[in-house]
Amino acid sequence: MPSPGLPASVNGLIAELKKLPGVGEKTATRYVLHLLGRGRDAADALGGALSAVSTKVRPCPRCHFLADGDLCELCRDPGRDISVVCVVEGAPDLLAIEKMGEYRGSYHVLGGAISAIRGVTPDRLRIRELVARVDAGGVAEVIVATGADAEGETTALYVRKALEGRPVRVTRPATGIPMGSSIEFLDSVTLLRAIRGRKEL
Ligand SMILES: [Zn+2]
Repeated sequence: MPSPGLPASVNGLIAELKKLPGVGEKTATRYVLHLLGRGRDAADALGGALSAVSTKVRPCPRCHFLADGDLCELCRDPGRDISVVCVVEGAPDLLAIEKMGEYRGSYHVLGGAISAIRGVTPDRLRIRELVARVDAGGVAEVIVATGADAEGETTALYVRKALEGRPVRVTRPATGIPMGSSIEFLDSVTLLRAIRGRKEL
């Protein structure tokens, strides 16, 4: 509900911020009033940063993580092992794995998980792109780190099936990931243990 008395443009910004996870009307209003209180430069800086993200950031053509150049920062890093590909549902999962600081392979961001309820069919995910990447050669192992919930499990099995018959090891992080949990919210220790103890899928 727009705050009565505020200019329409201010209410418009509040309405956009409210769409972000964890931001309600009260927080959004506080952000906007704080920003306006800091003067025009602060609003311009935020506007500039948002516009840079919207014009420059594209999915990386190799792993589909966020990139603002040809390839993402991770794919550009010559120290990463591109023969190991960790498949994740989304960018937050990738960031959670990166945060544990041990994984040095590459990634493949699917863009979600198969879900009958939400109408996400396998063709809406980047599974075909993953298969093409494996077929292009140089991939020895695919770690399927989709969530430990029903959708993540379904997706993992689908990925395994899609890669069947190809000369690649398909593994899944070990149990120890609590049932129903998303990779994004796991603590680093649990995640580390799960990835180190991964098994053939
Ligand atoms: Zn990339």
